[in-house]
Amino acid sequence: MTPLQQRLHHVLSTLPAGVQLVAVSKYHPVSALREAYDCGQRVFGESRVQELQEKHAALPADIAWHFIGHLQQNKVKYLAPYVSLIHAVDSLRLLQEIDRQGLRHREARLANGLPAKIEVLLQLHVAQEETKFGLTIEECRQLLAEGTWKTLENVQIAGLMCMASNTDDEAQIAREFSEAERFFHEAQQQYFAGDSAFRICSWGMSDDYPIALRHGATHVRIGSYIFGPRQY
Ligand SMILES: *Cc1c(COP(=O)(O)O)cnc(C)c1O
Repeated sequence: MTPLQQRLHHVLSTLPAGVQLVAVSKYHPVSALREAYDCGQRVFGESRVQELQEKHAALPADIAWHFIGHLQQNKVKYLAPYVSLIHAVDSLRLLQEIDRQGLRHREARLANGLPAKIEVLLQLHVAQEETKFGLTIEECRQLLAEGTWKTLENVQIAGLMCMASNTDDEAQIAREFSEAERFFHEAQQQYFAGDSAFRICSWGMSDDYPIALRHGATHVRIGSYIFGPRQY
């Protein structure tokens, strides 16, 4: 086994059954993804559209590609034929554009073995840092209560995503993940009762995923721990 494959194995050995590893391979070469692939990893996370397109073209077709970065509306069309999950949706307008592109690329998605509906997560802003991305819990509640999303037939809201503050204060990180976890249960009861497709809690990265696992994470997005430092 290569050192990368040993690190991948170690991460997998720390995950409880049922938790999905999203191997965050952004800024790493195709050869690194291939090493992880050869070890059985099939779910990769990328944060730039063009990079994802290039890697998708270069690697086997049975990889599930997750887009984890901020997605501009005018780029949805490039991902729609083959993306398996979009993690960071934070506006109704983006949801509507994903719905439009889901309809346009429906046949291609089905041919690629994907569900016709594009699965997405709503991104919550729970960290202390100032960022323009993500919905506060109140904004997310309003988006769900407003209800337009229910009319979008080509997009499925499959859960929530968040990032915790970049801090050594583990209690702070735990508070943020537990806020997201609490809201996940609220949303599940209030807006997705009986909808088993609303099931994903995507939180936890290299430095904080053990905390995320204690607060309901079903998907962890781990990059540098597996692939090493990114070469920007
Ligand atoms: C880069 C990135 C990750 C992975 O971060 P690491 O610290 O390398 O594990 C996870 N989530 C998002 C949204 C990212 O952009």
